[in-house]
Amino acid sequence: MSAPHPKAPAAPAAPAAPAANFLRGIIERDLAAGTLQGRRWGGSPGDAAHHAAGVPDPARIRTRFPPEPNGYLHVGHAKSICLNFGLARDFGGVCHLRYDDTNPEKEEQEYVDAIAEAVRWLGFDWTAGGTPHLYYASDYFDFMYRAAEALVQDGLAYVDEQSADAMRANRGDFTRPGVDSPYRGRTPAENLARLREMRDGLHADGSMVLRARIDMASPNINLRDPTLYRIKRATHHNTGDRWCIYPMYTFAHPIEDALEGITHSICTLEFEDQRPFYDWLLENLARLGLLAHPLPKQYEFGRLNLSYVVTSKRKLRALVEEGIVDGWDDPRMPTVFGLRRRGYTPAAIRAMADGTGASKTNIWLDFSVLEQCLRNDLEGQAPRAMAVLDPVPLVLENWAEVYGSAAHVEACSAPAHPQRPELGTRHFGLGHTVWIERDDFAEVPPKGFFRLFPGNRVRLKYGLVVECTGCDKDAAGTVTAVRARVVPDTRSGTPGADAVKVKGTITWVGQADGVAAPVVLYDRLFSEPQPDADGRDFREVVNPGSKVVVQAWLEPSLAGMAAESRFQFERHGYFVADREAHRPGAPLFNRIATLKDGRAPG
Ligand code: ATP
Ligand code: MG
Repeated sequence: MSAPHPKAPAAPAAPAAPAANFLRGIIERDLAAGTLQGRRWGGSPGDAAHHAAGVPDPARIRTRFPPEPNGYLHVGHAKSICLNFGLARDFGGVCHLRYDDTNPEKEEQEYVDAIAEAVRWLGFDWTAGGTPHLYYASDYFDFMYRAAEALVQDGLAYVDEQSADAMRANRGDFTRPGVDSPYRGRTPAENLARLREMRDGLHADGSMVLRARIDMASPNINLRDPTLYRIKRATHHNTGDRWCIYPMYTFAHPIEDALEGITHSICTLEFEDQRPFYDWLLENLARLGLLAHPLPKQYEFGRLNLSYVVTSKRKLRALVEEGIVDGWDDPRMPTVFGLRRRGYTPAAIRAMADGTGASKTNIWLDFSVLEQCLRNDLEGQAPRAMAVLDPVPLVLENWAEVYGSAAHVEACSAPAHPQRPELGTRHFGLGHTVWIERDDFAEVPPKGFFRLFPGNRVRLKYGLVVECTGCDKDAAGTVTAVRARVVPDTRSGTPGADAVKVKGTITWVGQADGVAAPVVLYDRLFSEPQPDADGRDFREVVNPGSKVVVQAWLEPSLAGMAAESRFQFERHGYFVADREAHRPGAPLFNRIATLKDGRAPG
């Protein structure tokens, strides 16, 4: 089944609006109708008897986030985490973190650890009432095998020895019904013996499989005797070499949900056609006494796609392995760790996820929505600071005249946050020479330019008013210094400072106490909103300007900050002290996002 895949990203959704979420309606109805009542919880995952011996389930609902530990989580997974943990939190339930580690070949401990860390960083916890609900699907292999034998004995599963090619051909397609396997008519006793031989390692990899016996003519191809178990000699990270047969995902997943007492099993749309098998399997296992009613129900919602990134694990891996980015946590990567290193806050990611709700269509979210969520989160809390990213010196020619010495430094200060006095005051010095942005000066001002040009007056923010007198240039005509004169008695915060009116205010960093630091100006990784649309190779549209390192000057308060501290650099945007490379004394900042409206006109 293929989910809708619109060509163009939709207009940015408004994250602040209460988002439609049909899952909430389903849960509210289930709780009101009492369909979830009578569930028992045995204190840990288990079969019908285990839960029957337990207590009425203290969790009003149970959801789960079931990643396969075969890679790093990305923004789509973050969406699923926020949805599942958020629903459990909002309805008095519990959300399990379950490693879906039934495939022996691809899983690694590195990913297991990274997934738990990402979920925790996003602000969620799988511990409820003192019980950590962290589970491994591979712990259920014994039960899964028992379920397989029960189905065989009930005549609902058989061992098929057709070749893979024959099986594929005999499955039919949308226009042709399938053809019964010649092995379909074996007796339960024959099948049970064969299944045990499979388990005991008497048959070669790929020589036979266990299949459900449902309906080879079903219009839903997933019900044409789906495979339940395959033979695969592979060492599993949890069970080692104990098994040489492994369950298929479609067989394992419903069972995992049922053993854990999941009430609402939420997955993405591509599993819609699997739902009839999900129900078929669980209902039969309940009828055979292995599982208890009420059974989990599967609900599908649309995937979240973010513009200007790719989220397929294969493509993310290619970006890392081909050196297009600097690693899984490169600040341009849409991985949870990439977003964290870029400076995105957990609250911003949760707001983005909550703001997109849950619907029955896959959605394309414009990257700008995530940026806006970040601004909304940081605007009210990030301390302000001044930084000059493209520096040119501004020489104040009459400094010594006005202050008696060229070495004099005026102490200036500013609130760390304009609306939050409790965040304190920043201090910095203004002297004979300061750093200003190169584009705050124009020898010949374009129309509407209110910043520095010969004869014009501007305020150095939190400092004083200066009047531009000209500039110095090198042989190539590049401006090497801007010149100005201090206008006396205009110090910010002193009486009469506002007597001299100016149209422009510019930010600056003093040469006396400014701190030199690299600042990395990150931008979108791709230059196209859908990098891999229409079969295009995403490598062709990597944005060459997605990482630009500039040598900046920072106000002195920034040097001593801890890694991961976030600031608004006035007029520039939001920046974070890099969590790996920043050191107090050797700062390194990343740009998270520009300010909403770009640079304010000066
Ligand atoms: P991918 O192939 O993109 O890496 P996956 O679905 O194979 O993703 P899993 O580890 O199986 O990765 O996913 C764990 C959970 O996250 C699943 O429930 C899956 O449906 C959900 N999920 C993955 N990608 C998205 C997405 N883009 N939007 C919403 N949920 C997602
Ligand atoms: Mg998957």
